[in-house]
Amino acid sequence: MTKQNIGSKVKLADGNEMPVQGLGVYRMTDENQVINSVKSAYHDGYRLFDTAQMYKNEAAVGKAVKDLNVNRDDLFITTKIAEENQGYDKVMSSFEESLKKLQLDYVDMLLVHWPIHTHFFETWRAFESLKEQGLVKSIGTSNYGMLHLQYLATKANEMPVVNQLEVHPYLSQQAMVDFDRENHIVTQAWAPLGRGRIFDDPVIVKIAEAHDKSAAQVILRWHLQRGDTFIPKSVHPQRIQQNADIYDFELSDDEMEQIAGLNRNTRISQEPEMVYEIGHQYPHH
Ligand code: NAD
Repeated sequence: MTKQNIGSKVKLADGNEMPVQGLGVYRMTDENQVINSVKSAYHDGYRLFDTAQMYKNEAAVGKAVKDLNVNRDDLFITTKIAEENQGYDKVMSSFEESLKKLQLDYVDMLLVHWPIHTHFFETWRAFESLKEQGLVKSIGTSNYGMLHLQYLATKANEMPVVNQLEVHPYLSQQAMVDFDRENHIVTQAWAPLGRGRIFDDPVIVKIAEAHDKSAAQVILRWHLQRGDTFIPKSVHPQRIQQNADIYDFELSDDEMEQIAGLNRNTRISQEPEMVYEIGHQYPHH
């Protein structure tokens, strides 16, 4: 096994590379909090920062990135188009605003934040066009299920290279993760820590004690060994550092299985809408 570290990257189907681990910035609204978290994470080796129009902190992320004063190609910046900005024209205009807020010439990854039936294909056409223009290096989706992706494939010129999904030990999404892999789509786990709800699970606690690691570290290590990419969030420098310190121990096959066995198929978010039901033209083949 090649030794991985916080700088490890995964090759995407479009030829670009993406860091395996990144920092999520959801619910960071205070500008200083964003600046300090990004700075702290960069210092610890994180290069991917995951924001969204919906988080209302793109401008703070832009300021934080500017403050870092590093080469642009040393960073991997992801943002997401909000539901209300789907549709060709709105994607184009809202993305222009996002770029301004981020003070960037391009983003590394643009995701459709959530599948909705309105403008389903138009939104994606805008994504393809932004990529053609070089304003976005890679395009992807978030919270897309198998049917959404199959439906998208009926008209897309290019398929998403990343699908960001809620994935953690209580929602392992094995079938979806396998589906993504079979279709050359990298799964990126959001709420990889289950937003903290799994830390007290006795199985996790026991494994953490055995390795002298924290519950958060064990969960992230599980993601890593499973082949997920992941973007845990924290605003505390010590936790940000701790979450990056998962490359010096290994879970046994038995421990991996014990954690996989915790799956309950329970979501933090709501179930993504079934686009094909509303579009009623989903091709059944
Ligand atoms: P998460 O699973 O990353 O959990 C974050 C929480 O866990 C923190 O608020 C903190 O309370 C706790 N925590 C983190 N590290 C810890 C540590 N070492 N010790 C103890 N506690 C620790 O949840 P999340 O923030 O919802 O998800 C991560 C990122 O995913 C977000 O910030 C965002 O960027 C992205 N996200 C995307 C979507 C989407 O629909 N695409 C939805 C939600 C989140």
